[in-house]
Amino acid sequence: MNQDTKCLKAGYTPGNGEPRQLPLIQSTTFRYTSGDDMAKLFDLEANGYFYTRLANPTSDSVAAKIAALEGGTAAILTSSGMAAVFFALFNICSCGDHIVSSSTIYGGSFNLMSVTMKRMGVDVTFVDPDCTEEELAAAMRPNTKLVYGETIANPVLTVLDIEKFAKVAHAHGVPLIVDNTFATPINCRPFEWGADIVIHSTSKYMDGHASVMGGAIVDSGRFDWNAHADKFPGLTTPDESYHGVTYTEKFGLEGAFITKLSAQLMRDFGSVPSPFNSFVLNLGLESLHVRMQRHCENALKIAQHLQQHEKVAWVKYCGLPTDKYYELGQKYLPNGSCGVISFGVKGGRQAAQDFMQKLQIANIATHVADAATCCLHPASTTHRQMNDEELLAAGVSADLIRMSVGIEGADDLIADIDQALAQI
Ligand SMILES: *Cc1c(COP(=O)(O)O)cnc(C)c1O
Repeated sequence: MNQDTKCLKAGYTPGNGEPRQLPLIQSTTFRYTSGDDMAKLFDLEANGYFYTRLANPTSDSVAAKIAALEGGTAAILTSSGMAAVFFALFNICSCGDHIVSSSTIYGGSFNLMSVTMKRMGVDVTFVDPDCTEEELAAAMRPNTKLVYGETIANPVLTVLDIEKFAKVAHAHGVPLIVDNTFATPINCRPFEWGADIVIHSTSKYMDGHASVMGGAIVDSGRFDWNAHADKFPGLTTPDESYHGVTYTEKFGLEGAFITKLSAQLMRDFGSVPSPFNSFVLNLGLESLHVRMQRHCENALKIAQHLQQHEKVAWVKYCGLPTDKYYELGQKYLPNGSCGVISFGVKGGRQAAQDFMQKLQIANIATHVADAATCCLHPASTTHRQMNDEELLAAGVSADLIRMSVGIEGADDLIADIDQALAQI
């Protein structure tokens, strides 16, 4: 099946006379006729459902669809994108370990690594995503357990050289984890470029309607934990908290990572999605391929329009041939990148605020990757406590407007932008 067909068909195949739409199993628990049957499930000796914190049929089907879209062997849904980021990291790292991450990542992920995981004794080194292989290799330490980056970084829109990051990670015997939220598997499949684990905030394009929070973790099944067994004892030695099971032995490379994550981290932290949210997410996935194409078409038209507008100072979008990330975009995202662009209006902070106030179609919202166009002025909202100097250091200039282009008519969006620019 190609990606378009998988959006509709993967993860759930109804039998004769069964519902066409994925059934919503809104139940915390599952009934058994004998305690022995249930004991087998607890021992991971049989497959089946007993409690939704550990597995739910609706959520599992949606996870299987995302695994198919990414070309992975196993996947799990989480209650939010942040839960997915944390679980993917913490499934490998313990106190005393070290992470190497691109510095241009989502603010929440940056904070998780630099503050919260530091409190757990996990250290992080941030590297410029445009660094050389040598610079990246120099950041690696004997206790480094993984390398991390975002295909298209939120909000600064750098494009990750996935092959470069994968090469250095693998040379040091550790996996590359890629947050593929902005590109989605419609526009990039990081496993094809050497990534080992992919994570998503499904709250963005996958849901696509600003409706349900969620996250996903997908394993490529290709990283050989056994070849570097001393680095990954959690996967390659018996788990005494789960009847002494050794995950790589029992579930193979294709299942070890996700089974451990579900059996340990979901059991103990419980960041499980509501089955209802998984059901709604699946509705979003059914049209992901169509929406992504439209998001990209609209964003490119608007980026091109802004670029030649006399009141616009600069535009960042990797689909523009003048963009710093155009070449990497052509390599990793040949069919389009995403709907998010950033630009600056002449006149700085005040002009940016005035411009946004005059928009009629675009919503002012702290959200991105939504069917409806929305925009944000970070200097007066998410980053408002910073002065102009601090903003610059964070890569957020005072005039920066982040616009998440939706799937409305491009002509209407451009007319709206033009009338707003005319008033500043
Ligand atoms: C939004 C986002 C997250 C966090 O996801 P939530 O669903 O908001 O918890 C992580 N990574 C990226 C790239 C994001 O855009």
